[in-house]
Amino acid sequence: MVHRTRVIILGRQGAGKGTQCARLAARLAVPHVSTGDLFRAEAAEGTELGRQAAAYFDAGSLVPDELVLDLVVQRLDADDARAAGYLLDGFPRTLAQGQALFEVLGDWAADVAVELDVPTSVVLPRLAARRVCQDCGATSRAAPGAAEVATCERCGGTVTRRTDDTDEAIHRRLATYDQESGPLLSWFDDKGLLVRVDGVGDPDDVHHRLLDAVRSRIPDIGEV
Ligand SMILES: [Zn+2]
Repeated sequence: MVHRTRVIILGRQGAGKGTQCARLAARLAVPHVSTGDLFRAEAAEGTELGRQAAAYFDAGSLVPDELVLDLVVQRLDADDARAAGYLLDGFPRTLAQGQALFEVLGDWAADVAVELDVPTSVVLPRLAARRVCQDCGATSRAAPGAAEVATCERCGGTVTRRTDDTDEAIHRRLATYDQESGPLLSWFDDKGLLVRVDGVGDPDDVHHRLLDAVRSRIPDIGEV
């Protein structure tokens, strides 16, 4: 019998979640389902869901839970995810979203929910160091103490922080995460699904901790 591997990964912005999720999904041989990527793909294809989501993005407002849920469930229902399982990244973010997901998919929505834990004191300087070129869009990381504005190494354009990466906005997003994730994490814990993983340190070590966390709940994960 083939066991599907269904993993939810949670973590603060700046915790290195995207990179670790891509690597873990490849290792587990499951699709990496990231809500950010889903929205971009739907918008690029011009689907109805994509158009609706883009309208919220363009207005600078949050995409409603129902729309995100539709998009996620549709993706988790695709052949590859039905066969192998999935690694869900970026959803759910709130208790309401978690409950809605399990209402639709049932208790088989996840075998394990892993919190990649990197303290605010570590992610803050990382987020503050993010830079983007206003001309070519290249992203980079400023050295500690570097100037706020620099010259792009690729195109000679102007490199600055993203407009939504002010200190205030970063603090606000991290505070929102702490507020929203608290009840969600407790809920996963009550279900016996939560495993916390220390996300600080060498990326290879973090990868192996994540793999161990998944293995602790799914002993027969396929090795790739
Ligand atoms: Zn550039």
